[in-house]
Amino acid sequence: MHNRNFGSLKKAVHSLSVVQTRFVTALFVCLITVGLFVSCSKDNNPESTLSSETSVQVVTNTPTPTLSPTPTSSPTPTSSPTPTPTPTQVPEYIEPDYDTVWYNGFVDPYSVRAEVVSNPDDITVLVNKYYALPIDYVPSDLVTAPYSYDQQLRSECCEAWILMHDDCMEAIDQAPFLVSGYRDSSLQQYLFDRSKNKNGYAFACQKNARPGRSEHQLGLAIDITTSYWTNIDDTFGSTTCGQWINEHCHEYGFILRFQQQYTAETGYGVEAWHYRYVGVELATYLYENDMSLEAYYGKIQILPGDE
Ligand SMILES: [Zn+2]
Repeated sequence: MHNRNFGSLKKAVHSLSVVQTRFVTALFVCLITVGLFVSCSKDNNPESTLSSETSVQVVTNTPTPTLSPTPTSSPTPTSSPTPTPTPTQVPEYIEPDYDTVWYNGFVDPYSVRAEVVSNPDDITVLVNKYYALPIDYVPSDLVTAPYSYDQQLRSECCEAWILMHDDCMEAIDQAPFLVSGYRDSSLQQYLFDRSKNKNGYAFACQKNARPGRSEHQLGLAIDITTSYWTNIDDTFGSTTCGQWINEHCHEYGFILRFQQQYTAETGYGVEAWHYRYVGVELATYLYENDMSLEAYYGKIQILPGDE
């Protein structure tokens, strides 16, 4: 029973397999036919082609933007030391009161344009008819000088004065006396006017500075004589004391400022009593080279006709 039943079952399965195989084959043939038809239709349909192309275009990727080049890091600038800006110094001038006037080769100081010096505290500063101090300038280190009637000098100048005085005394048993040291501009005004009234305007232009243009306002000028009872005058240079001072003053930092050979350069006549402190180094240089302070700075007075 079991075997007979099993044989019937095998037949049935076999029949079923044949049916299935035929069905699958027919289905396969159908599919191929339909596929071929569709394929041919596509190839002959321009719209389809266009559509295909269009679709290609659509899917065309938006061009990836070229990456902008990563900026190469700019070289770090070598840190050069920041220069301290030099302030541009615009010179200040004092304009003349009137056109230039000369008296016997000496110019009227009220008739020339002067530049106001920017370094009044510099012991080597040039001050004359053409280079002025700020009118209210007062040195900050004035001290009362010995061997004088309460005259004041800048401390450095005063030390040099004491040393020169003492050495002179020791060398020749005579010593100079300080008649005039620091003077403010109002005292200088008084002296200019007094000289003008006593000896005439031309004389004042030769021997006296107008206010603001005197080396005495620097606290670095000394007017000296042989004793406290002697007036300052041109005989000082021929005295024993005057001769010793003229020979040695540069060793202490002083120069005999107004000498005959410098008259045209300085703008002043001879003053045998007036010495200017500029420090030992410059004083020695000027003494050894027989040079005025104006010539040293290349600022000698311009005479009429030399302009
Ligand atoms: Zn003087």
